[in-house]
Amino acid sequence: MSQTADVVVVGGGIIGCAVVHALAQQLPRSTRIVLIDRGPIAGATSGSSMGHLMVTPDTPQDYAFSRTSVRLWNELAERVGGFHFQATGALYLADCDEDLELIPVLHEQFRDNGDRCEILDEQRLREIEPGLAPDVPGALFYPGDGVVLPMLACGAMLREARQWNESIEVRAECAVTGFERAGGRITGVATARGRIATPLVVNATGVWAPELAEMAGQPRLPIYPRAGNLAITAHHVSPIRTQLLEISYLRFAHGAAKVDPAGTDDPGGHAVNMQPQSHGGCLIGSTRQFRGMDRTLNRELLHRSLARAQRYAPALKNVPIVRTWVGLRPYAEGGLPFIGPWPHLDGLWIAAGHEGLGISLAPITGLLIAQQIAGVAPAVDPTPYQPARIGA
Ligand SMILES: Cc1cc2nc3c(=O)[nH]c(=O)nc-3n(C[C@H](O)[C@H](O)[C@H](O)COP(=O)(O)OP(=O)(O)OC[C@H]3O[C@@H](n4cnc5c(N)ncnc54)[C@H](O)[C@@H]3O)c2cc1C
Repeated sequence: MSQTADVVVVGGGIIGCAVVHALAQQLPRSTRIVLIDRGPIAGATSGSSMGHLMVTPDTPQDYAFSRTSVRLWNELAERVGGFHFQATGALYLADCDEDLELIPVLHEQFRDNGDRCEILDEQRLREIEPGLAPDVPGALFYPGDGVVLPMLACGAMLREARQWNESIEVRAECAVTGFERAGGRITGVATARGRIATPLVVNATGVWAPELAEMAGQPRLPIYPRAGNLAITAHHVSPIRTQLLEISYLRFAHGAAKVDPAGTDDPGGHAVNMQPQSHGGCLIGSTRQFRGMDRTLNRELLHRSLARAQRYAPALKNVPIVRTWVGLRPYAEGGLPFIGPWPHLDGLWIAAGHEGLGISLAPITGLLIAQQIAGVAPAVDPTPYQPARIGA
């Protein structure tokens, strides 16, 4: 079977779905867009994640990037819905002097960006989260964060995209196996179900983006899997209401990795992250460890993070864990995702490497890709995310 398309998006995780969604919005209705995944839609990292929509205020650029994305999530929830969006806010918890020092820093970062958050005294903390241990020494509440169910969110994006552009084709269970090129540009992709002639391909394959780049005759991209162990409780009433996270998460999870992401000696670490589920259970994470594509459970790390969760929410001791699993975050060298054209092969674009923030950042990623392809002014400065930074 042979076919033609104006754009082929490879990878049906949250990033590929967001790219298709934004392309449908930004390009004419007649644009032929094909989304391909070798498995089911949202069957890889996106279906294994926590779905915390997180605003990160570290710098004005980070803030604009993440805040715009979370705003786009809110707008999608209002227009389309159907993906268990909850405007929970985020409660950052401190448990030692080092943590307590981070609270005024985070407060100032939100304030410097013109946003608001609240440093909580004991009474306010109890009002917001009555199920917390009585001896949590400090907390900050940021009302702008939320939670979604990523698998359903992928579906919602594709549903709305199809309302804007009826011709969008989604091919699940169909691997991309090669690229066709003429001179320095892409002319098509080979798939398990025939070739598709196209001048434009977006590589949105997460931890497999380096493989796909190689398939196109390009060097492997510096994106490395970073494993995370998760556990979910039975469908009891969740002992918490907000998205909770240890404030030490900011030190531990953000920015460039402190160990060699390609190495094999990362002992791993954790900062607890707890999320009420819309059906009543509680999702508990989250560990981080570079160890290649290995998806076996690291019981020791998981038990350490469960112990931290119980320290904050003691009622969790009485709630059975019903499922545990491992997901692979796509960590990009330098800590920022790659979003934009690949400078060494015309027609190849990259949208990959979002580590632990891919759900949060999916809408702005899609929009930046679509706006750059459409040649319209980007909503946020795309410079820090350009793939051209590789090897610079
Ligand atoms: C434990 C854990 C918790 C997380 N929690 C959060 C959170 O709370 N908030 C947040 O914002 N982010 C979170 N993340 C991060 C987020 O899940 C990822 O950044 C995001 O899902 C990456 O999406 P993606 O579309 O790039 O990759 P994926 O979802 O992995 O999609 C890539 C797709 O490409 C397909 N593919 C690969 N090769 C081919 C090929 N040759 N042909 C066709 N298709 C191919 C794969 O089948 C896959 O479906 C978490 C991640 C983990 C692991």
